Amino acid sequence: MTTQTIPEGVQAFHQRELDAGRFLLQCCGGCGRYVYYPREGCPHCGSTTLEWKSFSGLGTVHAVTTVRRKPADGGDLNVSLIELDEGVRLMSRVDNLAPDAVRIGQRVKARVRVKDGRGLVLFDAIDGATA
Ligand SMILES: [Zn+2]
Repeated sequence: MTTQTIPEGVQAFHQRELDAGRFLLQCCGGCGRYVYYPREGCPHCGSTTLEWKSFSGLGTVHAVTTVRRKPADGGDLNVSLIELDEGVRLMSRVDNLAPDAVRIGQRVKARVRVKDGRGLVLFDAIDGATA
């Protein structure tokens, strides 16, 4: 019997970190830009020197959609495109506001919610501040 080690992909690593409550971004050693969603190579300069880093978690709501759902299905859901201060964007939701109270320009901070062992990135609105 032989044991084979399969190299872990960056996306699997990212999810494992999320499951442990940590939200990390890749930062490119070639051009210094942040990269998200995780990749094997930098989309800006092609470098494969991508380093995992913790970061501010701060961002701004760039676009917002309210997905209408029946109360039985969990009610309306906010889907927001968040631009992090590090310059990358991701789809997520603002968790501490009513779905239709989320505004473009709202300042938010990332938080990892771990449910059933699986980590998910959510955002909380930061009091009063709009960009
Ligand atoms: Zn780069």
